[in-house]
Amino acid sequence: MTTQTPMLLKGGPIAADIRETVAADVAAFEAKYGFAPELAIVVAGADAPSMVYLKKILDGCEKVGLGGRLVELGGECSPEEMTRTMEALGAEPHVAGIIVQQPLPDCIPLRVVIDAMDPRKDIDGIHPLNAGLLALGYEGYLPATAHASVELLKRSGIELAGKDAVVVGRSNVIGKPVAQLLLRENATVTTCHSRTADLAGVVRRADIVVVAIGRAAFVTGDMLKPGAVVVDVGINVTDAGLIGDVDFDSAIDVASAITPVPGGVGPLTNAILLTHLMRAARDQAAHTVAPGLPSLRFSEPQAEVTS
Ligand code: NAP
Repeated sequence: MTTQTPMLLKGGPIAADIRETVAADVAAFEAKYGFAPELAIVVAGADAPSMVYLKKILDGCEKVGLGGRLVELGGECSPEEMTRTMEALGAEPHVAGIIVQQPLPDCIPLRVVIDAMDPRKDIDGIHPLNAGLLALGYEGYLPATAHASVELLKRSGIELAGKDAVVVGRSNVIGKPVAQLLLRENATVTTCHSRTADLAGVVRRADIVVVAIGRAAFVTGDMLKPGAVVVDVGINVTDAGLIGDVDFDSAIDVASAITPVPGGVGPLTNAILLTHLMRAARDQAAHTVAPGLPSLRFSEPQAEVTS
């Protein structure tokens, strides 16, 4: 039990600040280049819950003055159709960013999407070029959820340098990039997965715990070190509603700070995605105006995570 009231790490207020900045960036971009950048969301296969999520992203674009387009290929689309669609979007100057809804239907291997993705428009960081840039400490496009998870900690004033951080989950879209971002912030990072021996023992040593496994209420308060900071990335649809991968009711008695679900990482993810879109738009516009310039930044490794 902690004696102090735990801090709730809410994504909404931070997301609102970010959206305000993005709206101003969009207006400035439009004044300079004469058009508003556009996000294209490619969907293969109809999946009702994810469509609700995608509509939220499109609404978010509209609110800050960005264009947004759903490109629906239908459940039975062929790899060739996906390739053609991705390449056509890659060639459209107004489309600054492309995301492809996952999971993909069985008929479309992820490899097909990656092969056809223009890395300069890969604003959710699925392309190996962007994953490689992150791994080497350069500024590629980060997976938005992973970026949001670490940004939430930083903007909430949580000290990361020198802390023991445990990431539970090792997916390419969340667990691995979160671990790399925490390492970039000078935390000492351990990554756990389904084959980790004594998961509870490893988690109990952590000052910072980030959980992204897709198992409802899996991490409980008795697995946490008193005073731990907990980021729950999980979103699980249950009969009791949306719940995270952390058992909030027991964890809040032990943690010094914790994200609610919903209301934690989720709202920030969408706002972060908009910042990635604007960065891509600016880089592409600069590249078009001055074609010799690279549109991904092969800068020196960054100490700071930027959007
Ligand atoms: P994923 O690709 O299924 O990966 C799950 C990871 O969790 C795997 O690395 C797996 O280990 C590990 N794992 C599964 N069961 C475990 C266990 N019992 N103990 C330890 N590790 C275990 O999932 P994901 O795409 O990373 O998503 C994770 C969660 O985040 C889901 O709940 C998803 O809905 C949520 N999500 C949230 C947002 C947001 O904006 N908040 C966005 C996207 C996704 P192995 O590698 O050994 O199999």
